[in-house]
Amino acid sequence: MGLLEFDGEPLTWEKLKPYVEHVKTHGIQQFLHNYRRLMQRPGDILKWGDEVEYMIIKFDHTNRKVQLSLRGEELCEILQEKEKKKMKNLTSLWRPEYASYMVEGTPGVPYMGYMAQFNVVEANMKMRRKEVQELLNDDEQIVSLTVFPRLGCIDFTYPPHKITGPESNPVSRSLFFPDEAITSHPRFPLLTQNIRLRRGKKIAINIPIFKDTNTPSPFVENLNDPESKAAAKPDHIYMDCMGFGMGNSCLQLTFQACNVEEAKLLYDHLAPVCPIMLALSAASPLYKGYISDIDARWQVIAASVDDRTNEEMGNEPLKNNNPVKFLFFRHVIQKSRYDSIDSFLSSNSKIFNDINLEVDEEVKSTLLNAGIDDLLAQHIAHLWIRDPLTLFSKKIDLDDENEADHFENIQSTNWQSMRFKPPPPGSSIGWRVEFRVCEAQLTDFENAAFVVFIVLLTRVILTYKLDFLMPISKVDTNMEKSQKNNAILTEKFHFRKNVMTSQSPACCAQLCSFKSNCTEGSDEFPGFIPLIRRYLDSVEVGVEARCSISEYLNLIGKRASGEYMSAAQWIRHFVTSHPEYKHDSVVSDSIAYDLL
Ligand code: ADP
Ligand code: MG
Ligand code: MG
Ligand code: MG
Ligand code: MG
Repeated sequence: MGLLEFDGEPLTWEKLKPYVEHVKTHGIQQFLHNYRRLMQRPGDILKWGDEVEYMIIKFDHTNRKVQLSLRGEELCEILQEKEKKKMKNLTSLWRPEYASYMVEGTPGVPYMGYMAQFNVVEANMKMRRKEVQELLNDDEQIVSLTVFPRLGCIDFTYPPHKITGPESNPVSRSLFFPDEAITSHPRFPLLTQNIRLRRGKKIAINIPIFKDTNTPSPFVENLNDPESKAAAKPDHIYMDCMGFGMGNSCLQLTFQACNVEEAKLLYDHLAPVCPIMLALSAASPLYKGYISDIDARWQVIAASVDDRTNEEMGNEPLKNNNPVKFLFFRHVIQKSRYDSIDSFLSSNSKIFNDINLEVDEEVKSTLLNAGIDDLLAQHIAHLWIRDPLTLFSKKIDLDDENEADHFENIQSTNWQSMRFKPPPPGSSIGWRVEFRVCEAQLTDFENAAFVVFIVLLTRVILTYKLDFLMPISKVDTNMEKSQKNNAILTEKFHFRKNVMTSQSPACCAQLCSFKSNCTEGSDEFPGFIPLIRRYLDSVEVGVEARCSISEYLNLIGKRASGEYMSAAQWIRHFVTSHPEYKHDSVVSDSIAYDLL
């Protein structure tokens, strides 16, 4: 996403509703104009880049307390100065994020395919961190932390904001997360409010609590609000707004493919890798001051933006009497708009698409009639079951041939594990694929390791024409497993038995451990790391880059075998063995302070 701009009045849900069909219809026209122009785009080269999200943390050393400092927007203004002056060859680019204690940093220009570039990833991350740190006060620190351990506890922000009930926060109606912690650019509060209004009630996130010896049983929170009381489940940590998910950080990567077909191929073959990387990067066992029984944030963020109505959830019968064509009641929808992908895109992956896909039939036939292939048409028609959530009054009537805002409106609020990104109109950028599941690691070394590992995996997939496809429902099963407490050591995953030759969906997958998947497979699938090493032996790599890559592969390999703990397990272990921990699942202020 470019610099955030907006035009005119932000439309709240009631005012946006009459334009829902308009945005969706024109969004499809914008996609078609763009597609026709770019389908035949000749060979682009590999370019790629990472995105790291950071939090600004304030340390009160006297009281041993940590808070999230709501200075992200103010810092972003300063960090964006060079870009706004159109200066070239910048080290970094900065974007505001959902919460006003966050910032997002990317390299200033995308990396190219040269091996030597692997040596600058970590250095660039270090420079970014330094750039922000230099703007901070002595008691503040920039931390690439996936979830703040006491997010939503009293006074977790600096400055603190008192909440007396849902009416304290008109945007989210949260009992815990102040509206003041939402970035003030109208996109963010508007998304928050419109998701809640479309859904018809507050967000409800229930995550199983880790039951320790002194944890009350059943564990029930004392909630002073009837709606929250009804939504909270016993033995779960209850969270009630978008900030609990979108206010978390992650690590993402985007690759440019040489053409649309290669982009589809990477999209498909990286999808089965998502759950594996989610578990290996898992970094978030603590929520709202409690230890949970999960290690990764995925289901939390999915629930945090779930705008489905009761009908769409399947909790009430579909009412088919709505005269407004695109509004509500049309589908029972299995997943939140933030979740894993539901279909593969390249033609030979069709037989692996075994999830029942909800599609907007009209959109699908428009696309098919325009000559889009059936799998891409189905993909877009599946994204189009969602409504737009934001709209600005001066951005309603657009030039469909040269603009893509309505397309991007729906596309960019389908927050899926992988994203298929068509070239933006009027730019030199090609077809891209985004890998979106990784959790942010605390150190630049770890973040660089994940980034380099995944980029190398794309080279290996393309060079050896590897086949990672399996029934996509099995990828979903893996996504569920990958978030569990200590999944790496306790779960077995579905993965291809043989990645070298085609196999039928019925017999292609087997259950395997992370260790075998990453480090020590068979002839039919030697494992990710041996394949990457084989690839590295076949290309020219400088000594320095080779050394860095070796260390990265070592980290990933030892995470996979359990020799090194995941970030989540390390955090869990730190809290449960802290001398002040009372075995009651509570992460106190001083424990959080010591952890950070
Ligand atoms: P979004 O938030 O929509 O995913 P961002 O603009 O924040 O997008 O991040 C885009 C990412 O893509 C960055 O990591 C950037 O370095 C990278 N990138 C930029 N241009 C290209 C390109 N031509 N090909 C591949 N990646 C690119
Ligand atoms: Mg971004
Ligand atoms: Mg981001
Ligand atoms: Mg308030
Ligand atoms: Mg991104």
